[in-house]
Amino acid sequence: MTWQPFPVDCHAHSQHSDGALTVTEVLERAASLGVRPSITDHISRDAPTTVDSPRAVAEYLDDLEQYDVLRGGEFCWHDALWREIPPETVRRFTHRVGSLHSIRLADDSFFRVFHRDLPDGLTPRAYMEAHVSSLESLAREMPVDIYAHPTLVSPSLREIDPHELWTEALEERLVRALHDAGIAFEVSNRYRPHERLVRRAADAGVRLSLGSDGHSRQQVADIAFPLALVRSIGVRGEDLYDPMRHGSRTGAFDA
Ligand SMILES: [Zn+2]
Ligand SMILES: [Zn+2]
Repeated sequence: MTWQPFPVDCHAHSQHSDGALTVTEVLERAASLGVRPSITDHISRDAPTTVDSPRAVAEYLDDLEQYDVLRGGEFCWHDALWREIPPETVRRFTHRVGSLHSIRLADDSFFRVFHRDLPDGLTPRAYMEAHVSSLESLAREMPVDIYAHPTLVSPSLREIDPHELWTEALEERLVRALHDAGIAFEVSNRYRPHERLVRRAADAGVRLSLGSDGHSRQQVADIAFPLALVRSIGVRGEDLYDPMRHGSRTGAFDA
């Protein structure tokens, strides 16, 4: 692969996990939109995927290496599989994405963020404290390149104005954690962040990454919204995360 000046969709799913498209169909869709594709399927024992063991990870990479495509993976922080992947396998990824599909609450239990109903007594404020402290743990523990969908929260909280749900202090903590760890902030098309948070990340020097998080033909490689948002706040195309340009913590591009 040679570097090309087209925007990269660093986060898209195929039939290796819960996407509707084959790898070839993802590539065709991205080409039609002028986007450089990646395959970033779920790699977890607690997500809808076929990639759920170290052996399955190696086989997934065997398959992706047959295509001209960036080889990503979306790892659940709360599931231990990412800790079990040997370094020689990790180096075969062009980039890795870390996700909070469950957050750790103050009592050390985990809450799946796709659940609408919050546990009894968990206020939005306490939820957001748990969300950000889980992100701080992810940033310390996980050697990923990108933090996926930073504003993915329980559906019941998505009805609250994000400028109230997110206090500026919480935003500062999130941005600091990513900055200190060298992890990029994903501007997701699927779980769209509010501009104040994206601008805060960019102003702090956190690299931004574009992600369709596409599962269907319609969604895959559609990064028009995130691209327009980052342009509107003055981020240059060459500064958007591109593993081939900026390298990866996987070691894939190390000499
Ligand atoms: Zn996700
Ligand atoms: Zn995803």
